[in-house]
Amino acid sequence: MYGSASKKLGIYIHIPFCRTKCAYCDFYSFIPKGEEIYERYTNALMKHMEAYREAARDRVPDTVYIGGGTPTALPAEQLIRIIKAVKRNFKLSKNTEFTVEVNPKTCDYKTFVRLRRAGVNRISIGLQSADAGELKSLTRSHSRADFEECFKDARAAKIKNISVDLMFGIPNQTVRSLLSSIDYLTRLHPDHISLYDLKIEEGTPYFKIRDRLILPDEDTEFEMYTRAIEMLERRGYRQYEISNFARPGKMSRHNLKYWNCEEYLGFGPGAYSYFNSTRFSFARNLEAYIRGVEDPQSRINMSEGVEQITGKAQLGEYIMLGLRLNDGISMSEIARRYGVDFGVLYGKKAEKYINYGYMVKRGDRLFLTPQGMFISNYILSDLLSFEDLGALSPANNF
Ligand code: SF4
Repeated sequence: MYGSASKKLGIYIHIPFCRTKCAYCDFYSFIPKGEEIYERYTNALMKHMEAYREAARDRVPDTVYIGGGTPTALPAEQLIRIIKAVKRNFKLSKNTEFTVEVNPKTCDYKTFVRLRRAGVNRISIGLQSADAGELKSLTRSHSRADFEECFKDARAAKIKNISVDLMFGIPNQTVRSLLSSIDYLTRLHPDHISLYDLKIEEGTPYFKIRDRLILPDEDTEFEMYTRAIEMLERRGYRQYEISNFARPGKMSRHNLKYWNCEEYLGFGPGAYSYFNSTRFSFARNLEAYIRGVEDPQSRINMSEGVEQITGKAQLGEYIMLGLRLNDGISMSEIARRYGVDFGVLYGKKAEKYINYGYMVKRGDRLFLTPQGMFISNYILSDLLSFEDLGALSPANNF
């Protein structure tokens, strides 16, 4: 591992396997038919990272994120081999934030110890809700007790940085049940909490039965969001992004790279990269990915899209991603990076949202209020002309 960085980089690795499939999930992941795919995929990932070794030679990655799917659906042997391959192929910074996503029931104390010894120092566990009925409705494969055992195993294994995912907008969820989940979770003192708004995505089992789902209405969702923010703040978790809260010093450095438009390389089907001002992604097709890596000369197309990000698109990305953050965007940074005056380009529209109470301008910075964050998609699409900006959603990596 190396010390100071000339050019930093984030590394994302997608593991597209799950033990069960949740009814709302839109991520590229599935339950494999046999175990032999694990070895083939591990070998393909290792080969792919090796192929990028030269291109990333002058970069010093300081964040690694293994997500999915469920990385711990892979047997521990293969997961450790993947971690070792990351360390072998890239000159990781000394203080690399190294995260692995975990689903309760897929990781025990011994595996956490092995992960820590291999270099993992941050774990992200999906709880989603502490309410038994809500977990059942989400078709999650674990109970609250399973989660608690997993959390305590991670702490016992000396994983010092633990993030936990929660959701709001779950069928039949109430403001009270959400706050009770937050109350339960914060008593365990995780270091970081993500709170996502459940979206019913096309192609999921939830989408098919969407008319029968009893979802909280928009006013209730808004109350859930604002009261959750208040409660988390009272318990010592500062909101720093639309869906993310952290104790001091525990913000996700990896996700901050996405929002700050910094470079990252993604490996695996469906993974996005932003490297040398180019965004590219690999198709959500495991077989095409493996065959494309195994035989680069083959006609198998493992890539989905390659896009040069320049000029106006770069500026649009900076604004769109930066406004997700509580600190928002800096006018002087925009002038420095892109040589334009934000006020001249977008000032009139921004003024409108400031007057409505959805945005605040303080000194050099412009940011969304909690009310603005709740309708951020609407505000951003009005502020920016999306048709000019190209596709901007590296979904799998977020
Ligand atoms: S939500 Fe997570 S555990 Fe559930 S199917 Fe999707 S990736 Fe797998």
